[in-house]
Amino acid sequence: MATKTQRHKNFYKLNSSLSTIFLSAFVSLWQKKSCLIYAVLLFSALSSCTGADKETNVEYIHQDFLYLIPQPMSLEKRENSFKLDVETHLIFAPELESEGNYLSNLIESSSTFSVPKNLKSKTITPTIELKLVNEFPPELQNGEAYRLIISEDEMQITALTPVGIMRGIQTLRQLFIPAFHAQEKRSAWYVPCLKIEDAPAFEHRGLLLDVCRHFFEKDVILKYIDLLAYYKMNILHLHLTEDQGWRIQIDKYPKLNKISSWRKDTTENLYGGFYTKTDLKEIVAYAKERHITVIPEIELPGHSQAALAAYPQFSCNGGPIEVANDWGVFKEIYCAGNDSTFIFLEDILKEVMEIFPSEYIHIGGDESPKFRWEHCAKCQKKMKDEGLANEHELQSYFIQRIEKFLNDNRRKLIGWDEILEGGLSENATVQSWRGMDGGLAAAKDSHYVIMSPTSHCYLDYGLDAIDLKKVFEFNPIPEGLDKSLHKYILGAECNMWTEHVPDKKNLDSKVFPRLIAMAEVLWANPDKNNFNEFYLRLQKHYPVLELFGVDYGSEMLPAKINTSFSDSHELVLLINKNLDDLDIKCRWNCPDCDTNFTDCDYHQPFLDTLPFQLELRAFKNGKLYGEPIFQKIEFHKGVYANVTYKTNYNKSYDGGGIFGLVDGKLGSENFRDGNWQGFFGVPIELDIDLRARGLTKISYIGANFYYYSNAWIFLPEKFQFSHSNDGVNWTTCYVIPKINHRQYIKAGQGIQLIESEIETPISMRYLKIKIEGIDKVPDWHEAAGQYSWLFIDEIILQ
Ligand SMILES: [Zn+2]
Repeated sequence: MATKTQRHKNFYKLNSSLSTIFLSAFVSLWQKKSCLIYAVLLFSALSSCTGADKETNVEYIHQDFLYLIPQPMSLEKRENSFKLDVETHLIFAPELESEGNYLSNLIESSSTFSVPKNLKSKTITPTIELKLVNEFPPELQNGEAYRLIISEDEMQITALTPVGIMRGIQTLRQLFIPAFHAQEKRSAWYVPCLKIEDAPAFEHRGLLLDVCRHFFEKDVILKYIDLLAYYKMNILHLHLTEDQGWRIQIDKYPKLNKISSWRKDTTENLYGGFYTKTDLKEIVAYAKERHITVIPEIELPGHSQAALAAYPQFSCNGGPIEVANDWGVFKEIYCAGNDSTFIFLEDILKEVMEIFPSEYIHIGGDESPKFRWEHCAKCQKKMKDEGLANEHELQSYFIQRIEKFLNDNRRKLIGWDEILEGGLSENATVQSWRGMDGGLAAAKDSHYVIMSPTSHCYLDYGLDAIDLKKVFEFNPIPEGLDKSLHKYILGAECNMWTEHVPDKKNLDSKVFPRLIAMAEVLWANPDKNNFNEFYLRLQKHYPVLELFGVDYGSEMLPAKINTSFSDSHELVLLINKNLDDLDIKCRWNCPDCDTNFTDCDYHQPFLDTLPFQLELRAFKNGKLYGEPIFQKIEFHKGVYANVTYKTNYNKSYDGGGIFGLVDGKLGSENFRDGNWQGFFGVPIELDIDLRARGLTKISYIGANFYYYSNAWIFLPEKFQFSHSNDGVNWTTCYVIPKINHRQYIKAGQGIQLIESEIETPISMRYLKIKIEGIDKVPDWHEAAGQYSWLFIDEIILQ
């Protein structure tokens, strides 16, 4: 019996039974465009057996029309279907001309016919009518609400505003079969009869796209606007300026495009680009047609190194400065003590506002190291003149001055949650990214909030940190916020930072399908227990996403790998499948071989103390699902000892929680893999009690540490441990000498083992461990003065 993968390969030999070939063709269609010819032939052979095109179409409708995302507020299925063909007329009032044209263009691009528009005679049927109404029931009192009623001879979308009409049109789009989206020119289409009433749970439903770290062509942006519209998202937040590149044409300061838009890549070639005003106006108009708002972000006072490379006179020390060609946070920021800096920024914002009509302008405000300001005479004088106590208040002064300018121009300011530090200006809206707390504080202070916590909304993170289910379970309303203040939570955005996303293929695989879960959360506010139902609905969207040219990624890691400690002192490996429809295969200590994957033992005890590596692969419908997973495991003498923390690890990097450093699981090259425990601005200090084993002879103590200076993760400088066999009398054993941090900068990111062999093994039951890092990022570093991280995966005792 062939395995599923072998069966797939057999397709190319065409030597299997018809049913097998059909299955393979279907799988191939998902995988490879080169297989399309085979697949189409087989599909047409099949349709000639099952009858007319029309019947297939109707059959599809009755089975599948419930798979809408986001799920509407109410949906009532009715008998029969509406036939859209050359007889159909489209009727709409003049104020709905844009929406009416949008819909008729959609229909025409997939049909052999066009729909006559606004032939007044009501006797003509069938009709599609778009209609504004003055009255809606209380649950639909929302500009984006709509009612869609489809009967056999009439289809009607009503709403209070044109925006609601557009949302209704997007729902209608999802009722067509995939062939409609393939723009097959057919003479008739069918949509099911039904009644839908619908309104969004949150008014701000967005995607941030960073076009600075990597530049994406205008066509990619337009495609994303279409996809946002299809899922009823309404905000595209364009992150237009960064240390690594300036992406918007500014006429008054041409060097922003001649110099700031270009950085040197690793091969010293120039990388970059920018959108002309014509490009951006086209983007804005395209979004407007779909009732999506484009919010521009112009970063200040930090993340401004590219601008300062062209205009160093607005920095604190006058340069010279280069456009950043590495990732991270940089200390070159706009000088707050120089009034001409504000003139420069206001000139830029004037041109930005001419292009973008959005109510909001995002000014960044995040990750702005104060190092230059602390050492700048002009900034220090400004603080003195304005009576500002510290550099945080100077940042607050900076933001408030920009906010006043925006308000004077009838615009509102959004900034990242750092703008809370040093006092928040009166009308500012806060985008909370460092967890939910910033948003909570701002809402309590009656400020509007957009939620984008790193815990749920960062699409640049891997599936090990944020998978589809995690996004689905996101609640933008922070715990502890009084119900009367919920109105301040406008909604949320997914943040797509692109340091490690060089092209559209990568972008698609990061954004999809997770963005679709966010669309469901923000529009439908689903019951968090209904993930499985959402998952099934989502599966029906993949064929359409393929037709839209989306290279979507997988939903989650195929399995969770955990350990536990048995009563008989075995380390037990636990493998839990994350999705029922996956087939999981495992192999051990075999990174390069290719044959010996076997079914996994999902509950496997180990007595062997040698370190080993598990490799796990998953298959869905016979196709490899996601990336292979590697997990290193070491069964050592400290496994599942009692650990008491004296300092707290960061919740975002808990490494598996209180047993995270003694669970036998070692970290990988990815510091977000769930095995690494992160300590921010504090030493690692903990007590270990080898209670289960009692007195234990130890001849080795070691731990892996992660280094990645761009992410402010540094190796420790001191590793000290004391041991005792009674908890009263202690011997301090080892101090690791200082690390030269600079030598690790060149290495980028990686793992360093710090260990000590004990020549004569020592019996101990208790251990006190204190591992000290550098408190703050050192002066020579770009992020000088920020707190630093220590990352550790396991404390290994042998
Ligand atoms: Zn300065």
